Amino acid sequence: MATTPAAPAEAPLLTCTPMRLPQDLWIPAAAQATTINPVNHPPVGRMAQVLKTAPTALEIAILTTKKWRTVGVHLTVGFLDTPPVALRKRLLLHMNAWGKMANISFKESKSNPQVRIARAGGAHGGYWSYLGTDILSIASDKPTMNLEAFTMNTPDSEFYRVVRHETGHTLGFPHEHMRQELVALIDPKKAIAYFGATQGWSAAEVKAQVLTPLEISSLVGTVPPDPHSIMCYQIPGTLTKNGQPIIGGPDIDNTDYAFAATMYPKQLVK
Ligand SMILES: [Zn+2]
Repeated sequence: MATTPAAPAEAPLLTCTPMRLPQDLWIPAAAQATTINPVNHPPVGRMAQVLKTAPTALEIAILTTKKWRTVGVHLTVGFLDTPPVALRKRLLLHMNAWGKMANISFKESKSNPQVRIARAGGAHGGYWSYLGTDILSIASDKPTMNLEAFTMNTPDSEFYRVVRHETGHTLGFPHEHMRQELVALIDPKKAIAYFGATQGWSAAEVKAQVLTPLEISSLVGTVPPDPHSIMCYQIPGTLTKNGQPIIGGPDIDNTDYAFAATMYPKQLVK
């Protein structure tokens, strides 16, 4: 489902929806992710404990993460329209910010780029990216990331906040705000009203995008949630039970850098 950047009256809100593959691709894409990096496979024994039954192939696929190989992520990047050279360089610069402490690099390529960036509006507009290895399941003439209306006139702060966030999804990082501890802070009624008014989302969409606690994946998580992560939504205080905003990340923070370095270390421990 695509969303459109709204023009909220209060603090700017990143309206990002990590793109999900069509459901008929979930099981093959999960198998592919597990082949690329076996750590993507969820712990079936623990799933069975939680579910009180053996998990189905679809349940395993839903909980399969989409990380790249631990030895590093080096992806080629192309553009589906014709942004000027200065803009292409600027986007690559922000994508490569993730390489500061981790073994990550993005390089422009005109032949069969793995990451394909569009700047479309309309039905497929907004800000989004497919998650990690899922980008390999997208047809080669289709975008894997959308940065609606980005130009050289877009404020620098949006390059930090949006381009780096979407690149995080391409690296296989989900939304930090989906972590159970953060979800627990949100008032569901306020959230449904707020996202309905500002994004046009149905109650079911708000539940799926913002409120679903991902109980089983929280069993797999190893790091505490970081409300200042670049991968966190900005959630206004009007939405939370305690009235305090979840600020979200305006840039990759030290916890994000450390997490990326753990996932894709520059030097593998032997
Ligand atoms: Zn996102």
